[in-house]
Formats: sequence, structure tokens, C-alpha cells
Amino acid sequence: MIERLRDQGIRDEIVLAAMNAVPRHIFVDEALASRAYDDVSLPIGFGQTISQPYIVARMIEVMRNGATLNRVLEIGTGCGYQAAVLAQVARDVYSVERVQSLYERAMGYMQELKIQNVILRYADGNNSLPAAAPFNGIIVAAAATHVPQALLDQLAVGGRMVLPLGAQEQFLYLIERDAEGYRETRLEAVKFVPLLTGKI
Ligand code: SAH
Repeated sequence: MIERLRDQGIRDEIVLAAMNAVPRHIFVDEALASRAYDDVSLPIGFGQTISQPYIVARMIEVMRNGATLNRVLEIGTGCGYQAAVLAQVARDVYSVERVQSLYERAMGYMQELKIQNVILRYADGNNSLPAAAPFNGIIVAAAATHVPQALLDQLAVGGRMVLPLGAQEQFLYLIERDAEGYRETRLEAVKFVPLLTGKI
């Protein structure tokens, strides 16, 4: 998987090492385990998916931009795979999930892998965010049509947010915050499940 990520253009060695350190098959059903390292998204129940390895690595590489991160926020824990990878590159990872069963399952995986710097929250990531702001990096793992204001507010000055935007047609965006304000850069086309509201 790591060689393929290199071929696909992932250059950040810290990100590649993080991807190498987290066993992806733990996070998918046994029936799908043989496909865990293919570059595909896979079902994790509740109509949700585990993101494909390339997109996980790409989002983290863009967010990190070569810097060591203190505090990172992820919206959309899902099975917890990306949170586990983030845990290798950031001091503290906060991750929010709106589906209670997924949140509970992710908790189990973090315990199983003895990952202690991921703080999981069962909440709607549109508005109910951890009180640990500001964050140096924010990753949103579900597509919104616009950037949630609460997330812009929680991004530290000097921080970087990576998120998919759009409905039928989606693109990855990088949002950088500096003392003057926010700068938005459009990256490649992507396909994510939608960012929803409320908890279930
Ligand atoms: N990060 C995951 C991918 C999760 S898919 C990985 O590593 O593979 C996107 C997740 O976002 C789903 O689990 C979905 O339930 C969750 N989600 C969607 N809208 C949300 C919201 N408003 N708040 C929190 N989680 C949300």
C-alpha cells in the first residue's frame, strides 16, 4: 500500500510512516479484510464508508504541510481509521461522529490498538464541537455544500483545514487561516458521503 501511495504522489515521509503504522484491516469487516489494503472505500455499516487510503493520506499531507501538529480536529470518525492515522502525526486528535454505533465501534478499535491520544465525541460536528479549540488542523471526512462557520471559527491562525465541498460534484478544498483572514484553494475532484445534521 505504501509503494502505491508513493506512486500516487504522496511525498510526506511522516504521513507514509503513519499509514504504514496503522493496520487498516482491523477497521473493516472480516468479510472485506482481504480488500482492506486496496485503494478503495469500503462499507462500514449505516450507509457509511471507510475512505480509500489515497484520500486519507492526501488529506493529512495537505493539512500537515510538513509541520508538526499539536491539536487536530476530524469531523466524521466513521470506523476511526483516519483518526488512528492522525494520531501518529499529531499530539492530540479530536474526532466527532454523529452515529452512536460507529462512535462506539471506533472507541473499541482505539482501545484494541492502544491509541491514547485520540479523543472521540458522539456529536453533530456542524455545531457541537470539542471545547479544545483552536485547532492547528481540521479534516472533514464528509461533504458539505459550504464550510461550516463553527469550523472556520475553531481553526487557529496559521492553521489549515481540508474538506470536500459540493453535492453531485465534489472537490477537495484547502482553507488556510492567517492574521488577515481565510484563503481557499480548490484541489482535486473527490467523492464523499454527505455531511448530515443531528445525531442518530
Ligand atoms: N474518517 C473515516 C471516514 C468516515 S465517512 C475514515 O477514516 O474512513 C464520514 C463519516 O462522517 C460517517 O461516519 C458519517 O456518519 C459522519 N458524519 C456525517 N455528518 C456528520 C456530522 N454532522 N457530524 C459528525 N459526523 C458526521
